[in-house]
Amino acid sequence: MSFLTALRQYASKADPSSLPTSVLFTHTANSLTIFDAFPKATFHFLVLPRARPPLTVFELASLRTLLKGDKQRARQTIQALAEDAKQVRAMIEEEMVSRYGFKWEVWMGFHAVPSMEHLHLHVISSDLCSPSLKTKKHYNSFHPKLGFFLSLDDVLSWFDADPTFYSTMSVLKPTQYEPLLKETLSCWRCGRDFKNMPTLKAHLQEEWDKEAEREKTKAANKKRKHGSENSADSNSERDEHAPKRLQTGRPAPADSEEID
Ligand SMILES: [Zn+2]
Ligand SMILES: [Zn+2]
Repeated sequence: MSFLTALRQYASKADPSSLPTSVLFTHTANSLTIFDAFPKATFHFLVLPRARPPLTVFELASLRTLLKGDKQRARQTIQALAEDAKQVRAMIEEEMVSRYGFKWEVWMGFHAVPSMEHLHLHVISSDLCSPSLKTKKHYNSFHPKLGFFLSLDDVLSWFDADPTFYSTMSVLKPTQYEPLLKETLSCWRCGRDFKNMPTLKAHLQEEWDKEAEREKTKAANKKRKHGSENSADSNSERDEHAPKRLQTGRPAPADSEEID
């Protein structure tokens, strides 16, 4: 199966549960959520709308094609994706707490210019710490303030904005967005610039380590304050309650140019 059209094949399945568990995370009547094959953060999923009438695979090819069609249907489709994505985010947060003792931000959004066919909403943890995050293009495509990563809330807000704003935003012209991927590498948290990926990646790891330290101290203080009445803490039960595997261990093909 071609890598570029794999998502469309998944989304066209009458029964998503027939997909391998290494691919499918969960599904609903409207969507399926798969593990990103090249996770760019500790947690990274794609939520895809299912290709079911009246929605066609042509309409669902991308955010651009969806927004070009019937506006009401586009809004409903994205709202349904949003609902399912929130469930996925909640599961990620639960897993964060159980595995790391705290939770951190999870972003939900679309790439302005997608690299794979079929609309997909990225649900990704904000650490951006992952061996598959290799290039400037990878990093900039998820930088939350750069403009290439369109947050779900922003996209939803276009529907309520002035119709001319909606039509302007829905053009999603590649030549307008692609240059953003070449911008200087800068930390999305502190704005510091970096000359190359290894130094940025080391910094992102430090940033996350600091956040982990802060959050764990906070949690410990809270626990101390509340006394020991809940001392049968979640740590001891961690394994029995561990939800379904949330991180994919699939190795990424070395030759991939995939920006997702
Ligand atoms: Zn920083
Ligand atoms: Zn993508």
